Amino acid sequence: MKPAPKDGILDMPAYVGGRDAVDGVANPHKMSANENPLGASPQALATLGAAFDPSIYPDGHATHLRAKLAELNGLKAENIVCGNGSDEILQLLTQAYLGPGDEVLHTAHAFLIYKLASRAAGATPIAVGETELTANVDNLLAQVSPATRMVFLANPNNPTGTMLGRDDIVRLHGGLSGDTILVLDGAYAEYCDPAHYPAGFDLVEAHDNVVTTRTFSKAYGLAALRLGWGYCPPEIASVLNRLRGPFNINQPALATGVAALDDQAHIVASRAHNTHWRDWLVQQLGGLGFSVRPSYANFILLEFDSDARASEAEAFLCAHGIIPRGLAAYGLPHALRLSIGTEEANRAAIATLTAFMATLTMGQDQ
Ligand SMILES: *Cc1c(COP(=O)(O)O)cnc(C)c1O
Repeated sequence: MKPAPKDGILDMPAYVGGRDAVDGVANPHKMSANENPLGASPQALATLGAAFDPSIYPDGHATHLRAKLAELNGLKAENIVCGNGSDEILQLLTQAYLGPGDEVLHTAHAFLIYKLASRAAGATPIAVGETELTANVDNLLAQVSPATRMVFLANPNNPTGTMLGRDDIVRLHGGLSGDTILVLDGAYAEYCDPAHYPAGFDLVEAHDNVVTTRTFSKAYGLAALRLGWGYCPPEIASVLNRLRGPFNINQPALATGVAALDDQAHIVASRAHNTHWRDWLVQQLGGLGFSVRPSYANFILLEFDSDARASEAEAFLCAHGIIPRGLAAYGLPHALRLSIGTEEANRAAIATLTAFMATLTMGQDQ
């Protein structure tokens, strides 16, 4: 006899994040985890460096942070739940609402956590086909069954960078039963044009079954602190607050998160840097013969004509100090994901890819 975990947990591999080191290469450019190349706001870093009393428990209600988030986004603070990364909000949702026999829909090339968290809860995740690597609402609705209890949509999506507009999201929600939760993951929302981004907060307020999630890990540059949040209908917020750890956010994360929200100029600058260098990379890659799909996030997809070629390119880039994200685990073994980096990293990536293309045998395109 030996201890056995609940069904589902051993069905999935452990999450493997983007590489951050290459043997024998000093100071590589890590372009594998969609981190902000400008780092965190200087104001946030000053707060992080300030003394605090580690003997005192943090505010278990994240009162100040939720008030600030509510003020900034025009939301109701009581319906905001903060998490140890937005991953925790996704985990809490699956733990609270899913069990054996329940089905979860996600797009074919979606963030891996949707699958992992659903399996961990004993539920069955179903990958739904996309069109041109973009979520297809008709396909998603065609997979809805009486067992469907949750639908995950990252918007923009990781790792494809594609996005749905508001009409599509409303249509998707309209095809779900009232007891199926639509989770809109806005991890890359800050990189989108604020005037046109379909945040979905109004859908959360108008319905009992829509949740949006956001993170401080990407544009806010605070990935190491583990901070994210969900905007929920009141009953879901109350469920997640019962389930979460009473002090799930540590004090430095709470204080630094507030300071980061106070520096929206840093978000504007990060978005401008991202848009500029994303356009530049797409244009340069076009010159190398790549056709790069439009991305709404802080990364682009490099697609090769074979899985083997993508692996060769990954090895070549790593050996030359550029670390991309291989996407075999995401079902895109012919592609690499490249985060938009600093100017130096972006230029080095193009120089290295140029050298890689030059190594290819004559007669083979790409
Ligand atoms: C990076 C990312 C997250 C954020 O995870 P954290 O736990 O907040 O660091 C969530 N969703 C998607 C799609 C992501 O790419």
